Amino acid sequence: MAKTATAPKNTEEQKTDHFHHWRIEEPNGLVSRGVCKHCGATKEFKNWLQDGDFITNEEHRNAA
Ligand SMILES: [Zn+2]
Repeated sequence: MAKTATAPKNTEEQKTDHFHHWRIEEPNGLVSRGVCKHCGATKEFKNWLQDGDFITNEEHRNAA
């Protein structure tokens, strides 16, 4: 049997034999959408990192 090169059905939480290589698109509101380079799966990432930046800035100001 030959391996199928094309991605199978688009199901959520599908098990894969590879680590998803997420390409994060531009933030759209509170979430960024990531698309796997290998299988085309999509996943939403919350932009919580921005909060960390704000906290870091506040800490920097307080230290000054
Ligand atoms: Zn993948």
